[in-house]
Amino acid sequence: MPWSTPWAPTDAELHACVECGLCLPHCPTFRLTGDETASPRGRLNAMSAVASGSLPLDVAVAEVMEFCLQCRACEAACPSLVPFGRAMEGARAEVAAALPRSRLRRRVAGRWIARRGIVRTATLFAAVGQRVGARRWLPGRLRTGLRGLRRLPWRSQSLVGSIHEPAGSPIATAGLLAGCVMDPWFGPVHRAVIAVLTAAGYRVVVPAGQTCCGALATHEGRAADAQRLADTNRTAFAGVDLIVVDAAGCSAHLVGHGLGPKVEDGVVTVARLLAEGRLPQRPPTGERIGVQDACHHRHAQRITAEPRSILRAAGFTPVDLDPDGLCCGAAGLYSVAHPETSGQLGRMKAEQVELTGVAAVASANPGCEIQLRTHLREGIRVAHPIELYAEAVGLVAAPIPRRPRRARGAVP
Ligand code: SF4
Ligand code: SF4
Repeated sequence: MPWSTPWAPTDAELHACVECGLCLPHCPTFRLTGDETASPRGRLNAMSAVASGSLPLDVAVAEVMEFCLQCRACEAACPSLVPFGRAMEGARAEVAAALPRSRLRRRVAGRWIARRGIVRTATLFAAVGQRVGARRWLPGRLRTGLRGLRRLPWRSQSLVGSIHEPAGSPIATAGLLAGCVMDPWFGPVHRAVIAVLTAAGYRVVVPAGQTCCGALATHEGRAADAQRLADTNRTAFAGVDLIVVDAAGCSAHLVGHGLGPKVEDGVVTVARLLAEGRLPQRPPTGERIGVQDACHHRHAQRITAEPRSILRAAGFTPVDLDPDGLCCGAAGLYSVAHPETSGQLGRMKAEQVELTGVAAVASANPGCEIQLRTHLREGIRVAHPIELYAEAVGLVAAPIPRRPRRARGAVP
């Protein structure tokens, strides 16, 4: 038996594919390359060949698997309901077990980003870099990375360990997942979510004992690490009625991997609270906001209506960018492992946004937000839909717009 881990793709998963090819036009890597081995069907065939023993699990097979974005657009398009995402996670676990040294760059990055202390130290350096305008002197990858980040705080403003009470008696207790990069880099999103949930009557806790959701570990084939992280989170969130997650990649992972029915993506929670009449609405203003559906919303959780209903409740007109849901190329650590392909997809997505003429685009996943900001021209805002809603109805203050940098030599 060529497979060696309990997470290996199963025969049932692999045999479900009838090779019809209907998924091919939805696959970003196939669209870019036209190469069958960069398609869902080709990847499933490679897994089947390894499973039957006719193909060794070597570096070439590892590259076929790791060129996949794990965006799951193929899964949403497949009439035979092939569970491609699950099969690919199993294949990645097999690659990690068979070739532990060959994927070093991704693995080191995956382990580091899951450690809050390391992310916080990197945040401090990035914040200093933003203040001193270091972007101009940095080499390509670091320059674009710094451009993709929001304006970062000088000092730690972590919400981990905090408790937020509603005005009256709480209707229930919601636990907020702090996340690896959400807490240091996307504090305004967390604050908007907390403001909205407390306005609707929830007591919100951000448990101190929580850790990374485990999505990156699973994507990198470290399934055992992901299980340990899930166990830690299960203990940390034991006392809450609901676990709210405001990053699409984290919620998709937690819904599918163990924390179960208590987990709800933040946009689902807020759309539900709006429908129940627990939150204020603003009359239409005619202002158009682009909607970038994260793959982990659109394909993995089939969430598309909720961000749009939240924007409508805020008085905005949602504008669809991408009816066929092409991945923006962020895809966890994909931009580290495959910067050229990630950059191509990022530029395609930025062009789609720019063509609509919107001044802002809503995105509910930190990786997508960084990717959009990296590739969009200056002046188009990228923000979480709950953040845009909370600002519009006055639950949090809108950010002060940054002054455009004055051209060298211009007269003040
Ligand atoms: S994964 Fe689904 S859509 Fe793609 S070739 Fe197989 S059966 Fe067809
Ligand atoms: S998950 Fe995305 S990149 Fe991977 S095969 Fe499916 S559509 Fe293609």
